[in-house]
Amino acid sequence: MLAGSSKIKGASDGRLLMQLRDRTARDPEGFWAEQASLLEWFKVWDRVLDWKHPYARWFINGLINASYNALDRHLPSKGDKVAIHWQGEQDDERRSITYREMYREVNRVANALKDLGLKRGDRVAIYMPMVPELPIAMLACSRIGAIHSVVFSGFSARALADRINDSNARLVITTDGYHRRGKVINLMENVASALNACKGVEHVIMLNRLGIYDSSSSSKSNSSVSDASYIDWHDMVDRYDEYCEPERIESNEPLFILYTSGTTGKPKGIVHSTGGYLTYANATFRWVFGIRDEDVYFCTADIGWVTGHTYVVYAPMLNSTTIIMYEGTPDYPSVHRWFELIERFRATIFYTTPTALRMLMRYNIEYAKVHDLSSLRLLGTVGEPINPEVWLWYYKAIGEERCPIVDTWWQTETGAALIANAAGIELLPMKPGSASLPLPGIDATVVDDYGNEIRGKKGYLIVKRPWPGLMLTIWGDDERYKQTYWSRFRDAYYPADYAMVDDDGYFWLLGRADEVLKVAGHRLGTMEVESAIVAHPAVAEAAVVGKADTLKGESIVAFVVLKQGYTDYNELRASIIKHVESSLGAIARPEQIHFVGKLPKTRSGKIMRRLLKAIVNDAQIGDTTTLEDEAAIDEVKAVYEELRKKITS
Ligand code: ATP
Ligand code: MG
Repeated sequence: MLAGSSKIKGASDGRLLMQLRDRTARDPEGFWAEQASLLEWFKVWDRVLDWKHPYARWFINGLINASYNALDRHLPSKGDKVAIHWQGEQDDERRSITYREMYREVNRVANALKDLGLKRGDRVAIYMPMVPELPIAMLACSRIGAIHSVVFSGFSARALADRINDSNARLVITTDGYHRRGKVINLMENVASALNACKGVEHVIMLNRLGIYDSSSSSKSNSSVSDASYIDWHDMVDRYDEYCEPERIESNEPLFILYTSGTTGKPKGIVHSTGGYLTYANATFRWVFGIRDEDVYFCTADIGWVTGHTYVVYAPMLNSTTIIMYEGTPDYPSVHRWFELIERFRATIFYTTPTALRMLMRYNIEYAKVHDLSSLRLLGTVGEPINPEVWLWYYKAIGEERCPIVDTWWQTETGAALIANAAGIELLPMKPGSASLPLPGIDATVVDDYGNEIRGKKGYLIVKRPWPGLMLTIWGDDERYKQTYWSRFRDAYYPADYAMVDDDGYFWLLGRADEVLKVAGHRLGTMEVESAIVAHPAVAEAAVVGKADTLKGESIVAFVVLKQGYTDYNELRASIIKHVESSLGAIARPEQIHFVGKLPKTRSGKIMRRLLKAIVNDAQIGDTTTLEDEAAIDEVKAVYEELRKKITS
């Protein structure tokens, strides 16, 4: 069924992992306690786990502070090590910041927040582009026990207001603006407009990034509902002392709230704990990346998403890792941008998404031949299933068949990776398109509709035991938490993803369980059909959805983005259909294929099939606040309308 299920490189026989797995199965609590001990606690926990279905509380009464573990701990030996190589979108904007410098600024900001009256448990919305002050603001919140809620800087005023109100934030931290694809984006305009709908915000701290905010301008007086005061970051922060006593936080007090990307519906405010989350982020970072002191680590995720929280900020900083942080997009000023940065900073680890790789692949460039990427030792991917073709291209054109690829499956809700090749423990043979095995301590399996475990067949992924990175709840909505994750199967966490376990125990993620096609009594995953379409040499990207059909239940409608240089649509349509039929069978034959320039995606790069589905079924489009580009929806509608006219005329 799946292309590319061949193995690459028999790196090891998995003995070490097996031993570890046996140990964790015998004594899970002892195992997690050992992982927690890698961090520094002010007071050790009384109990490892308190499990009252469906709520897991870890390291009860243990006292810890995130910023202390990410910064203070490193000062004696790693204070002068670079924490962040920051690169602005404009090439001459560059800063390298050491751990000591981070520490000082975080402490000053923490003191400033305290002086504004912020207290433990208060929520702070952070709406900033990829600048070093974003992790600084997060760590400052964690230092005083305030809960940060980072809102992706690409979001509209409306999306920002919704998130501020949902979490009842008292403070907003932002910048005046930033550059995106050479244009100036005015963030303060969005903040001012959002505040018209937010009563609870008392202060706005603004980092002057571009010097475009005029304090006497209309943006402040526009704000009619909120009486928030506007404070300049440096005017305020620079006045404060560079030491602020870290709060001693009980392990289960929230560290942050983060809203999911909204691919399948209204975003959920996922709440993460402090001790459990940090323990799990730290452990997985070591297991998956085998992080070394000399590594220069480049994760391209925006901090506005969970990958940015866990694998740009918290896990690397807990390990005093040097990170590369880039403000701009991968295709501006050209698609060489990321590779220039890998070369410039001598990155050793590169971690990105399938959607970005598919975009880069369209240009047919062998990046490792154009740039010196010899510093790289490990590649990673996250966010969506990766098609074997894209995997192989990544392996060759970027990794030069030298760098292993770790495909990491996880969700905002899970805190950090659950299924991934643990290259830092021992690298198992890689199978392109498979995320490989669950990490130590993760009791994942695949079940059928009735909850029976199955092998070699598509079913539902579940996790049978809680782990320390599991969310605490959905902010303000325990009921939705129970319903969404704990009602489909008894006693197991339900992520709503399809998967298949093969004979070697490898997990193949097969897309979302709520995006299924029902064709003539068969249930097909959207991802299976898309994967077959993308395997066609002319195709860069594809999305398929079901259109209601009186005979078949649903018929398959495909939206396809072609690689550069392909234009013979009629011939391509026929050859794509042939290609799908030969790889999946006639049942998966797309009834219609529409060629489009782009697909509607969330800001985190995931295809929003629910919007396509609404278009082909003439239904309400629903929440689009997390959409990357409204124009994509318009294009899809236009292409679809054109066809409908042809059919009905
Ligand atoms: P929402 O829950 O609001 O619909 P979302 O699920 O897109 O949003 P995230 O938490 O960012 O928000 O994404 C997690 C999902 O991404 C997973 O459930 C899975 O479908 C997909 N995913 C992440 N990593 C991988 C991977 N390595 N392989 C396959 N799918 C992945
Ligand atoms: Mg989700």
